[in-house]
Amino acid sequence: AKSQGRGRYVVYAPDMDQRGAEQARIAADLRVGLDTGQLHLLYQPIVAIADGSVYGVEALVRWTHPQRGPVGPVDFIPAAERTGLIVPLGAWILGEACRQAVRWQQELGDRAPRTVSVNVSARQLREAGFAADVAAVLLQTGLAPDRLTVEVTETAVFDDGTAMAELHAIKALGVTIALDDFGTGHSSLGLLRTCPVDTLKVDKSFVDNVTQGGQHAVVAEALIHISNGLQLRAVAEGVETAEQADALYRLGYRYAQGYHYARPLPAAEVGQRLSQPASR
Ligand code: C2E
Ligand code: CA
Ligand code: CA
Ligand code: CA
Repeated sequence: AKSQGRGRYVVYAPDMDQRGAEQARIAADLRVGLDTGQLHLLYQPIVAIADGSVYGVEALVRWTHPQRGPVGPVDFIPAAERTGLIVPLGAWILGEACRQAVRWQQELGDRAPRTVSVNVSARQLREAGFAADVAAVLLQTGLAPDRLTVEVTETAVFDDGTAMAELHAIKALGVTIALDDFGTGHSSLGLLRTCPVDTLKVDKSFVDNVTQGGQHAVVAEALIHISNGLQLRAVAEGVETAEQADALYRLGYRYAQGYHYARPLPAAEVGQRLSQPASR
């Protein structure tokens, strides 16, 4: 076991299976990538369905490996989580997203995205002191707390005292909390009572067949009713067609994210998108 920086992570363990060894290789490369600027963030707009105007953006990490080329987060976030590298990586992502949010405010003023959302994994949240790190980043960058949204999954907070305490501490800072992939976990409804949630990101799986009506639309409709009843903001994820957007709007959804509106974009292109007239 090896320790570097402030995150504790293991890059080698004697009884590792093949998958573990592969993940250790990825994590070792990723550590180098993090230190040498191979990582960058893209930002996907979250829009108001009614007029297509950009409400916020979600930061999504990208890695360009010097030999392998582009590596998607689904191929390295698990390795980063398993090894603990997600802690320093996540700290970099958080700092970078907050710095960019401040840059947009300086460049675009009122047209800047209202919030920037950052994905936070279970491992980060279960590390005591995470909320203090968030507070420090906000102070360093000068970003107003209500302009940051932290996206967590149900499984990250489920049954974990530290995670729940950190989440309440983040909420107390004035930061917005979003439950990611909502509806796919095993404790969705119970968590709404104990977790200080502001936003539900309704998983793409409920959006995919929403145009077919009937049974497929029933869950999407139930989720918007729960969201409205609890006075939460609902964001429909993975909207790919105008038909889906229309169906969601008729069910009561007001915010959406997906390829129909925009793919994850470099920061400069977000600025251009914000300067263009909104369209549905
Ligand atoms: P997520 O948080 O649920 O992010 C949404 C994913 O869906 C993104 O994939 C996004 O590019 C993709 N997506 C957006 N709209 C559409 C659409 O209309 N159709 C389809 N098919 N896909 C769409 P991406 O960027 O590959 O990220 C995958 C997952 O990796 C994320 O899922 C998140 O769990 C994780 N991830 C990404 N960036 C970060 C990060 O900075 N930190 C952490 N901890 N996890 C991250
Ligand atoms: Ca997310
Ligand atoms: Ca999601
Ligand atoms: Ca997901």
